[in-house]
Amino acid sequence: MAESAAGNSTTAAFLPYGRQSVTDEDIGAVAEVLRGDWLTTGPAVTRFEADLAEHTGGVPAVAVTSGTAALHVAYAAAGIKPGDEVVASPMTFVATAATAALHGAKVVFADVEPDTGNLSVEAASAAVTDRTKVVAAVDYAGHPAELDTLSRVAHEAGALLLEDAAHSVGGSWQGRPVGSIADLTTFSFFPTKNLTTAEGGAVVTADADLLRRAQAFRNHGLVRDKTAQRYPDEGPWHQEVHEFGLNYRLPDVLCALGSSQLSRLGEFKKRRAEIHARYNTAFADLDGVLTPPSREGADPVWHLYPLRVREGRRRALFEHLRGRGIGVQVNYIPAYWHPVFEDLGYRRGLCPNAEAYYEQELSLPLFPSLTDADVDRVVEGVRGFFGA
Ligand SMILES: *Cc1c(COP(=O)(O)O)cnc(C)c1O
Repeated sequence: MAESAAGNSTTAAFLPYGRQSVTDEDIGAVAEVLRGDWLTTGPAVTRFEADLAEHTGGVPAVAVTSGTAALHVAYAAAGIKPGDEVVASPMTFVATAATAALHGAKVVFADVEPDTGNLSVEAASAAVTDRTKVVAAVDYAGHPAELDTLSRVAHEAGALLLEDAAHSVGGSWQGRPVGSIADLTTFSFFPTKNLTTAEGGAVVTADADLLRRAQAFRNHGLVRDKTAQRYPDEGPWHQEVHEFGLNYRLPDVLCALGSSQLSRLGEFKKRRAEIHARYNTAFADLDGVLTPPSREGADPVWHLYPLRVREGRRRALFEHLRGRGIGVQVNYIPAYWHPVFEDLGYRRGLCPNAEAYYEQELSLPLFPSLTDADVDRVVEGVRGFFGA
């Protein structure tokens, strides 16, 4: 991730795989907050949460300091504790699994669909047990997972569905917006994502109890509601902690950037779709690669363009493109390949589809300010490699 952020500040000739779009209006919105009274815990936070809810079908949001914090908060809201099991997709950034492990959960990786890279319904069904508390799906590359079916699988097991929607804010599944389907949905606003607050994230849930627990965990677990306090007569200053929490509050300064960015989410989505379609067309006749599919019922926000490179040539193409100033990336090594999971006993071979997907995956540059000429440069780089 640090690499991608660094990529954002290098010379114009280098194309990163992702980068932010920041306008003078965004800068103005941030400056206005900096001149005001509330740098944090103020009205810009409430506004950003309300603005986000306009993109989740009205489901409330809790702004936090990162997508990782959002996952940590979501698992806390779900009451994850040592001994619980969390069924998770391995085709993700490590945080989806790491934050569950930090609560003491045993992460059970279930394989993905070979074409979309999203959590397989069959694999998730086979992985749940009576200890499963959460099924964690990821909308890989911005293409929503089979959220309705996964929701049923989770609920039948007495578990909640958590949707890591770090890639897919603004998308929908079967006509329902991301954020309105899973029990808990998390977003990331890292600069490479669909909108940015520099660092930031959010937890979205329609369940009043999960929402209250998420809000509490974000703010040290502090209980301010007198009717909920054990010692309400202590004094007007009194707030008390019933369960441990952390400080994951997203400041007003960054929430103002988020609200300003959100007003262009539709534009970002449209441009991302255009670039995605341009790549698809350009590679349609190329034997050496597979282009990303789209399922019926999915309205993706293409965060990544995951090209799949056949015949073991992914690394060579990666180096070929990097050598031409094209900042391709690989998303992701299966989460359990990280030594921290290996040391816990997880072995390669666990999720063959995820491993096969990883072996071929190459993320091409995709961000709203990429020009058609930039896209054509990437296309020529790829086609040139195959002598096409
Ligand atoms: C980016 C990302 C995260 C973590 O978000 P941060 O804001 O970088 O902490 C989690 N899951 C997925 C799938 C991501 O892409």
